[in-house]
This record gives sequence, C-alpha cells and structure tokens, in this order.
Amino acid sequence: MSEPNGTPAGWQGGTVWLTGLPSAGKTTIAVGLAERLRSGGHRVQVLDGDEVRAALSSELGFSKEDRDANVRRIGYVARLLAQHGVTVLVPVIAPYAHSRAAVRDLHAAHGVPYVEVHVATPVEICADRDVKSLYARQVAGELSGLTGVDDPYEAPVDPDLRVHTQHRTVDESLRQVRALLTARGLA
Ligand code: ADP
Repeated sequence: MSEPNGTPAGWQGGTVWLTGLPSAGKTTIAVGLAERLRSGGHRVQVLDGDEVRAALSSELGFSKEDRDANVRRIGYVARLLAQHGVTVLVPVIAPYAHSRAAVRDLHAAHGVPYVEVHVATPVEICADRDVKSLYARQVAGELSGLTGVDDPYEAPVDPDLRVHTQHRTVDESLRQVRALLTARGLA
C-alpha cells in the first residue's frame, strides 16, 4: 500500500543527529545519505545548520546559551517532521552534551525514534580539511569561539554510532550510518 506521494504507508520517520567538529564530515554524510534514502522512496529532510540558523535563529550568536537555544529549536523542528514519517538528518555540531540529551528526551517523550551519530574526526584532520576556512581564520585571529579549538566540544560518551572518517571513504561512512538506520527500522 502506498500513500499518494509514493511513500509506502507506515514507514517510520526518525531523527538522525550527526554531531562533530567543523569539517568532520557531518554534511557530506547527511547529504549523501539523503540522496540514497530518497531514491529508496523515503521522505527525507536535511536540516542544515547554516540554513536553519538563517531561517530560525538569525538573532542568535555562538555563546553557550545561544548555541543551546539553536539546538533546541532544531530539535523541535526535527521531532515534528520525524513524527510525520520524515527521516530527518541533522548535520549540526551541537557541542554540549546536555542540549543533545534534551533533544533525545524530547523525541522519547513523543515516541519518535532518535539516533545520535558522532562523526568523530580528530581536530587535526578537520583543520587540515578546513572546508569553510574556519580553522585558518581562527589561526589568523579573524574569528574566535571555534568549536574544538577555542570553544568547547563535549564529545558524546555513548553515541548510537561513532564514525571515524579519517580511516574511511565517504562511501564507507555512508554505508556505516545506513546500516545503523536499517538495524533501527529507519531505512
Ligand atoms: P561538516 O559538515 O562536518 O562541517 P563537511 O561534510 O562539510 O563537514 O566536510 C567534510 C569534508 O571531509 C568533505 O570535503 C568530505 O569530502 C571529506 N571527507 C573525507 N572522508 C570522509 C568521510 N569518510 N566521511 C565524510 N566526509 C569525508
């Protein structure tokens, strides 16, 4: 049985939060996974950190309080979408353990599946990749408060999955995350 848009009825939505340092590989994995899941018929939404900030949190900065508020807002939107059958991929740093826990609790309170993936790329590798030149700008003194360098990053102690991208191709990382979703009935 299918719904009018072609999504098989009863497919389970859920949120996959990809946490990690800047340039760890969160967006690459989210976008690649979204493509694969969509081609399998899933309804998928990537909540890109920069886009959501611009849309929902443009008044917020990068203090602890503001980062927490941003994560809470994204978690709220993710939960709403996931509750309606969407697979929500969230490639957002979310540096503080307690705000990630709050998002997990919010999902649990509504009976919505939630998985936390730690994209555990070491800071030296991230600084080398430096996709958005943030690390270079921090070194040059053009910005401060860079997560993992001069701002805290509380690595997850017990994530659902840890991905070590420095030892993997993008394709291998995608397959690793997809296997977790399959095991959880989300893919
Ligand atoms: P983030 O969203 O965490 O800031 P990006 O995904 O934008 O990081 O950038 C990560 C970079 O690392 C990309 O250029 C990507 O091609 C590269 N990369 C190398 N190996 C991997 C891997 N196994 N998984 C994900 N990204 C990888």
